[in-house]
Amino acid sequence: MATSLFKEIIFGPMRSRRLGVSLGINLLPTDNKLCNFDCVYCECGWTKKGGKPRFIPAGSVREALEKKLSEMDEAGELPDVITFAGNGEPTMHPDFERIVDFAFDLRDRYAPQAKIAVLSNATMIGSESVRRALGKVDRNILKLDSAFDETARLINGCPSSYSVAQTVENMKLFHGDLIIQTLFLRGEHDGRRIDNTTRTEVDAWLKLIADIRPRQVMVYTIDRDTPAEDLYKVTKSELERIGERVRALGIDCQVAV
Ligand code: SF4
Repeated sequence: MATSLFKEIIFGPMRSRRLGVSLGINLLPTDNKLCNFDCVYCECGWTKKGGKPRFIPAGSVREALEKKLSEMDEAGELPDVITFAGNGEPTMHPDFERIVDFAFDLRDRYAPQAKIAVLSNATMIGSESVRRALGKVDRNILKLDSAFDETARLINGCPSSYSVAQTVENMKLFHGDLIIQTLFLRGEHDGRRIDNTTRTEVDAWLKLIADIRPRQVMVYTIDRDTPAEDLYKVTKSELERIGERVRALGIDCQVAV
């Protein structure tokens, strides 16, 4: 299906289902996705293997963000949130922490009411610098699509070194100051069935949520075109039922459809 890349360092603002009016920051190449996952539902398409990783230089990010925020300030149209997302995994950028720091400086100068969010697959949170940077942002939103390594590999195309158990241990280092994002879906890929909505899947995932105790959980489903073809949305009522089970743990849950 027709997936697409973000063509600019700063993109939007756009209305996000989960975040409100969001101005996006893309630290990854504007002509190529760069991620250590390869999710079947990635709106940027499949991850191309090989090649030297390229990142947008920190100075160019600063310049582009300042220009956009000053234009928005002059127009009186400031965003609700400034979101690190884009063509891959933002925390892979070697200057991620420095970039987060100057994003705060610019936010304070031009859009003090805006929150700063990061959408991440959580693979880099073993790094102290990445953890420090995520600890500073208003919305530290980390992916956890399954409690099972096998399902995570199927959905997220993660490397064999990826371990849900290790990821959960690293998530616990935030002491609750994180938001878990989980995309629920069903379908088939490479002749294998995908379904992270079964009772076994949801029960095991809820146990991890209870263990991590994030300040919020976001549950959602496919919204845009996906690189894999045979994927199906989960209904609003199914997501609401999952949301109720999260709330029963005393944890806030946002259901986005
Ligand atoms: S982690 Fe995000 S950017 Fe990476 S493949 Fe998955 S959806 Fe795409």
